[in-house]
Amino acid sequence: GRALTIGLIPADGIGREVIPAARRVLEALPSGLLAARPRFVDLDAGFEYFQRHGVALPEETLAALKGDCDGALFGAVSSPSHKVAGYSSPIVGLRKRLDLYANVRPVISGAAATASGARRAIDMLIIRENTECLYIKDEELHDGPDGRYAVAKRRISERASRRVGEMAFAMALQRDGMRRLAPEAERTWKARPKVTIVHKSNVLSVTDGLWRETVRGVHAASAQYRDAVDVEEQLVDSMVYRMFREPEAFDVVVAPNMYGDIISDGAAALVGSLGLVPSANVGDAFVVGEPVHGSAPDIAGRNIANPIAAIRSAAMLLERLGCEPAALAIYRAVDRVLADGRVATPDIGGRSTTTEVADAVCSQL
Ligand code: NAD
Ligand code: MN
Repeated sequence: GRALTIGLIPADGIGREVIPAARRVLEALPSGLLAARPRFVDLDAGFEYFQRHGVALPEETLAALKGDCDGALFGAVSSPSHKVAGYSSPIVGLRKRLDLYANVRPVISGAAATASGARRAIDMLIIRENTECLYIKDEELHDGPDGRYAVAKRRISERASRRVGEMAFAMALQRDGMRRLAPEAERTWKARPKVTIVHKSNVLSVTDGLWRETVRGVHAASAQYRDAVDVEEQLVDSMVYRMFREPEAFDVVVAPNMYGDIISDGAAALVGSLGLVPSANVGDAFVVGEPVHGSAPDIAGRNIANPIAAIRSAAMLLERLGCEPAALAIYRAVDRVLADGRVATPDIGGRSTTTEVADAVCSQL
């Protein structure tokens, strides 16, 4: 078989520590799980790259992804909190330019959650719309009679809502099959697949109204979904409340871009650490694995970042590229390292380094 070609974009901060760790795990996959050893292409992007070269997402990176790669892994970018002339986030750009319209974020409690205090069996799949909402970044600053004011536009389209809605219901069905493949320990079995639609259409009746109506329409239009998948709605604020009170009640959660971002960081706290939660940016033509966390400047450069989110993101990438056995081997190796608990980074109560955790996962493969 043909070797997979995987683009690696570590970008900034701990991205440069966790992406090499994920690469080591991919390289350690026993032969037989993949048709051939994967090839890697090192690619530039990020805020530091912008500071040196004046561009955060070089065209060469995009061309290499489109021309040479089957998929990619992105680390994290240190986007500043103030406006910097000429800068815009490379990951937001990648999602748009490659039409990666959904960000799929499984949040699953396992052995590590026990170590950090959370004991509930959480098994959520958060699907975040990935191309619009406030991320169109259409903002204006005005001078008014009472001082300056700023306005941000928020775009919700039927097309984007429909395609993430489709993905949410399809994945709710698929997850039953995936649960059957996963290690039994500590996985909850939901009686029937369920999709929770998150919105705030009591306030934003036009934008979130269109979102809610469109996603509901996907369910209503399909006999298969109506028969096999339950649908419910939650206003985003009560979603956060319920998620902290009874996270085990949720299965697939589908949300507009900004709500999905916020909810998934909250969900990460419930399972112990942002350093555990992976994601895949998914489109019809390409996929980019990416840990949910950012560049973590507070711990960058010390080799103590948890690489598990990035390692699991590599597994999600393989899964989306049709290499399920290799993906499953990585998920299981990670679960064994977490269950054993002896090798763990400080965020989940251990004293090991990034490198030691990656080595431990490799040795469990
Ligand atoms: P963050 O996710 O980087 O960090 C939040 C907290 O979680 C920090 O205390 C950090 O140390 C901890 N943490 C995150 N990942 C960890 C890991 N793998 N192991 C151990 N601990 C981990 O969020 P932030 O601090 O708000 O943002 C820092 C920078 O990252 C900002 O510039 C922001 O713009 C950027 N960011 C980028 C992305 C992305 O690239 N997709 C996402 C979020 C934030
Ligand atoms: Mn985020």
